[in-house]
Amino acid sequence: MIRIPHVACLFLLSFILSSSIAAGTAPPSDTVIFGGDRVYPPFEWDDKGTPTGFHIDLENALAEIGKAKAEHRLDDWPVTTHALETGDVDVVPMLISDKRREKFLFTSAFYFMDHAIYAEQGTTKIPVLADLSGHTVAVEQTSYAQNKLETGYPDVHLILTGNTLEALQAVAQHKADYALLTTPTAEHLIRDQHLAVRRVSPPLWPQGYAFAVRKDRPDLLAWLQNSLNQAIVNGRYEAVYNAWRDRLEPTQTSSSQILKTSALIAGPLLLLAALGFGWSFTLRRRVAARTAELQDELKARKDMQAQLRHFADHDTHTGLPEYHHFIELGDKVLAEASSLPSPSKEMVVFKLAETETIIRTFGYSTGEGIIEEFAERLKGGHFDVTSYFGRGIFAVLCDQSTMNEAYDALSEQLETCGLGLYPQLICGIAHWPGHGTSCADLVKHAETALAVSIDRNHDCTTYDPTMEPDQTDLRIVAEFRKSGGTDLQAALQPQIDLKTGSIVGAEALVRWHHEELGFISPAKFIPLLEKAGLITKVTARMVDEAARISASLRRRGIDCTISVNVAVYDILETELPSIIKAALDRHGALASDLKLELTETSVAEDSEGIKIVLKELGTAGIYTSIDDFGTGYSSLSYLSSFPIRELKVDQMFVRDMVTCERNHSIVSSTIAMAHALGLSVVAEGAEDQETLTSLNALGCNRVQGYVISKPLSEDDFNAFLTKHQGTFSSTVH
Ligand code: C2E
Ligand code: MG
Ligand code: MG
Repeated sequence: MIRIPHVACLFLLSFILSSSIAAGTAPPSDTVIFGGDRVYPPFEWDDKGTPTGFHIDLENALAEIGKAKAEHRLDDWPVTTHALETGDVDVVPMLISDKRREKFLFTSAFYFMDHAIYAEQGTTKIPVLADLSGHTVAVEQTSYAQNKLETGYPDVHLILTGNTLEALQAVAQHKADYALLTTPTAEHLIRDQHLAVRRVSPPLWPQGYAFAVRKDRPDLLAWLQNSLNQAIVNGRYEAVYNAWRDRLEPTQTSSSQILKTSALIAGPLLLLAALGFGWSFTLRRRVAARTAELQDELKARKDMQAQLRHFADHDTHTGLPEYHHFIELGDKVLAEASSLPSPSKEMVVFKLAETETIIRTFGYSTGEGIIEEFAERLKGGHFDVTSYFGRGIFAVLCDQSTMNEAYDALSEQLETCGLGLYPQLICGIAHWPGHGTSCADLVKHAETALAVSIDRNHDCTTYDPTMEPDQTDLRIVAEFRKSGGTDLQAALQPQIDLKTGSIVGAEALVRWHHEELGFISPAKFIPLLEKAGLITKVTARMVDEAARISASLRRRGIDCTISVNVAVYDILETELPSIIKAALDRHGALASDLKLELTETSVAEDSEGIKIVLKELGTAGIYTSIDDFGTGYSSLSYLSSFPIRELKVDQMFVRDMVTCERNHSIVSSTIAMAHALGLSVVAEGAEDQETLTSLNALGCNRVQGYVISKPLSEDDFNAFLTKHQGTFSSTVH
């Protein structure tokens, strides 16, 4: 049998590991033909028409690694070697010898064959090579053993035989004291022929076995060597070897042989093992050092990936999982809990009630500090999973009593900035499994309950299916969550200066064409997204689009301010100024190219906080217009103290101002009041020429309406500008 001694195997591995591995070598042809002996188990043999054996598996592995197909042709050994010489086969695995090197090129050895001394059964003396002196020793003619003994041990009397079997028979028939043979073949024959001969020495002279190719095929050799190196480094060689280990190393599996042989050779083997251990230890250390290096690299990569994953999965301020990660973790918790006898959990989504007031009063960073301190408090609680959804809203998944027990501790005074605030929690609760089986369902239902708590001014509400909002509304919010606003587009509605007719600006109106739900009106989805706390994504997208479009217009020499609608959340709960600045920088737009439109109802709710942010924006050169003026809670007093530039009269007054006396006087007095405050006025919703003329007569500064144009796609807006050469119509004069 051919056998890889353990030490030799380690040597082989360390050698090949230390050699360089080509990044990839193209296969020399689609199919590589491997030759072999048809009766050479366990390496290669013809098993009822199917090539089988260690070599066959290894060759298949190499071909796969090298992205080629393997074909196997097994025949008598002389036929096989001849086929290699003539080119009928491409590769043949064989023992490396000087003589063969004259004809063939060899890969590095992929395993080793050793020799051993054989003697008659019952021989107790265990010879070392020197002990052979004076004895008759049978060896194969022209063999490696013959050469070694002739050159190193001239006192040995050699009996030369035609093959391995004859050498063994010489021992069995007392014609020779010993035989010195290659172990794989000898042991195979001893077993097969029931010879009363046994191995009596440890393994000697390991010799390399390798793949041979013709000398004119260095391309094939390079491909083979590369595949072999990769197989050894990526563990494929080891897997193939291990699959055949029992047959490649039969002495380790045949217990009777082990017992008998070990009785004979235990002593020297122990000695050898000790020596081998030393050698093996050194080599193991080399292999271990290289393995450790590779492991360190792998670990560093894994650490970096884990870090990136962590950033993606966690909120940067609080370090708590973001919504998507929270859902993943929560589903795992629920799956584990479902095997319990009476599983019960609850999802609590809650809001820190004062968030807006705190931000308004003490500034954004104080608000952030409070959220962070509260998040730390949550991390110390006995919750299964926690999350921060933004806008002062947190979620926890826990056992049903846990939140109740933690409530007092969570509501304790906060230390941030020494403000001595007591957090007030407004909660919505959904029970599991009663109110939903998945974590996402539970969050949805707990959010519904939270909305009810806020609406009804309650501290805590438990979900009830009757609270469910319209199914389409839920779908819209869910679909938006999925897309994150990436499928939103801006439509542009031109605004003209009534005095000159010049096209001086455009309002960017969000458009959402959903592939299944179709066109969804902003009047429908904007309020839903505001409630769900998702409006900031719309704003960020529209600010970016507006900056991009205005920068491109400026590059063409067109002066056209783009207005973006903003909601109160944008002003109070995001860093709107930095979002705007980033968009301007990204596209090379100017601050004066953008304008904000704020709905008056929002202003009325949060006038103080809004004032601070609007001032900051104004200082940066971005001006604000009050949208839909007249429909909210307008108050002259706050308007006069606001850093705003413009009022936008709502279309409900403008639309029929020509025919409706009451609306005409509302528009008229609004324009007069605005001018008295130093504000300019835009009228929106002008649908005909008479309205345009009437607005001009009242001194309205600008107009936006269907009489000029409906909202247009970017391309159509550009075409509109070109068509009107920047001036809409002189008929407005
Ligand atoms: P808005 O900001 O007051 O926008 C004006 C709305 O009036 C637009 O409807 C526009 O198409 C429509 N309009 C303009 N001129 C005329 C006219 O002559 N006749 C008629 N019948 N309608 C006219 P749209 O695009 O459906 O927007 C509705 C509302 O949705 C907007 O009212 C605004 O409150 C909100 N919205 C639109 N885009 C955004 C956005 O990007 N962010 C936010 N937060 N809200 C937006
Ligand atoms: Mg608007
Ligand atoms: Mg409006």
